[in-house]
Amino acid sequence: MQGLMQDWPLLIHRIIDHAAIQHGGRKVISRSIEGPIHTTDYASIRRRALKVAQRLARDGIRDGDRVATLAWNTWRHLEAWYGITGIGAVYHTVNPRLFPDQQIWIINHAEDRVMMTDLTFVPLLEKLADKLPTIERYIVFTDGAHMPKTTLKNAVAYEDWIAEVDGDFAWASFDENTAAGMCYTSGTTGHPKGVLYSHRSNVLHAFMAALPDSKGLRSNDVCMPVVPLFHANGWSLAFSTPMVGSTFVLPGAKMDGPSIYELLDTYKVTFTAAVPTVWLMLLQHMEANNLKLPYLKRVVIGGSACPRAMTEKFEKNYGVEVIHAWGMTEMSPLGSLCTMKPDYAGLTGTARLDLQQTQGHPPFGVEMKITDDNGRVLPWDGKTFGRLKVRGPAVAREYFKGDGGDILDDDGFFDTGDVATIDPHGYMHVTDRAKDVIKSGGEWISTIELENLAVGHPKVAEAAVIGAPHPKWDERPLLIVVLKEGERATREELLDFMRDKVAKWWLPDDVAFVTEIPHTATGKIQKTTLREQFKSHVLPTVEAAE
Ligand code: AMP
Repeated sequence: MQGLMQDWPLLIHRIIDHAAIQHGGRKVISRSIEGPIHTTDYASIRRRALKVAQRLARDGIRDGDRVATLAWNTWRHLEAWYGITGIGAVYHTVNPRLFPDQQIWIINHAEDRVMMTDLTFVPLLEKLADKLPTIERYIVFTDGAHMPKTTLKNAVAYEDWIAEVDGDFAWASFDENTAAGMCYTSGTTGHPKGVLYSHRSNVLHAFMAALPDSKGLRSNDVCMPVVPLFHANGWSLAFSTPMVGSTFVLPGAKMDGPSIYELLDTYKVTFTAAVPTVWLMLLQHMEANNLKLPYLKRVVIGGSACPRAMTEKFEKNYGVEVIHAWGMTEMSPLGSLCTMKPDYAGLTGTARLDLQQTQGHPPFGVEMKITDDNGRVLPWDGKTFGRLKVRGPAVAREYFKGDGGDILDDDGFFDTGDVATIDPHGYMHVTDRAKDVIKSGGEWISTIELENLAVGHPKVAEAAVIGAPHPKWDERPLLIVVLKEGERATREELLDFMRDKVAKWWLPDDVAFVTEIPHTATGKIQKTTLREQFKSHVLPTVEAAE
């Protein structure tokens, strides 16, 4: 027997419809690329998104066509996402931090028909355009007055382009499983792979993201996603924020400490989210200028492990609750968030900080398991490491064009490539990437844990740990360190600092000092490059073993 409830497909434009009806006057404030702060509201975002949809349709863009966006977080980018998806087309975010060759590869693989971009990227695109045969027209997010002279094909200023239609247009209707968005994985090995979100997955994921034990968003929040829309589906903030009707603050192209602080303070932001690097810049700026954060209540930190010292500073010095989050492009992207279940609600001091080192627990809609290399399920005891596998309605079942083949196990779980423990209350702790974990004498050593420990040393700015070959143990940890400006330290000094904080056999065998650690376009440490760089490094313990 079927239920007798209405068929109301989960389509993305219903979110902006709801925001316009229930929260129409709520402000959407952006730092524009042209410079000044721009203020609009949800009702206007919806009106203009409908114009985008109407104008794209007039340009012949149809259901399933890909429209690339290479742009910062602004109101125009937000409108574009809703306009593109409102006719069944697909927004494809291109990460400006990728190498040009990767951008070319991705745009061609996606077969994008239109490119929407910011003034910032016009010179870059002019250099790439010859190699982008599928792009029929370039739309620059600006007005006629700021539109530069450009050689880009059929280039037009966004404001002029949408002014050509009247907005008397209705959203298309289609199946909720229709593709809506696309984002390529960072591809540290081989080519990047396309993850294709659907309307249904994005809407369900927005519910999951907004839940009280996730981001806990409400209409009286002022929400500022510093995480760019081009990073892993913008962590759902383009959907979960209008869904609950929070005031929206969009930081545009400026993510340095002073610019972010200015927005947090001026617009009384209560909720924000970004990767640790952004918060490092903000904290340095606030410390140097003796600033406070009287309005900010919660900060989500994820994308890579949140250092303990960062959590401590935000909570102790500024009274801001840190929510450590984990996820990945393939998961839309949220997988888990570290908010306090009643089992841990009473924790304070060091015990609370210890728990906040974990990536927390998944919301409804994400199922997790850890397994050994043979797929056998491992216990949730908070100690046993295993491969972390997930399934749910907002987790990828396949990559675009079938790249990478079958990616699910027999029970429909996706292997995240992360190694993790899960404790009896369901708190997951990422201890490594499967390809980075150090296998020493048959046991696993977590490189993330050692890195976190090393950055706790007052002279260390950044640290990476890789496995170096060892004749007796297979691999042993090598600590690679960038010292803070003007600091000097010795190998022994750093090892002594770590000695009583880890098991004896986890202690790195050597320390290498470098001026820079290489990063990927999404800010993660590039361990493949480091392994290449240090492939001839001989550990002092090797000679002893021989
Ligand atoms: P991406 O798809 O580029 O966002 O990368 C996803 C990967 O980033 C995950 O599989 C993890 O390896 C890593 N990651 C994301 N969040 C965290 C976190 N909070 N702690 C440790 N690693 C993380």
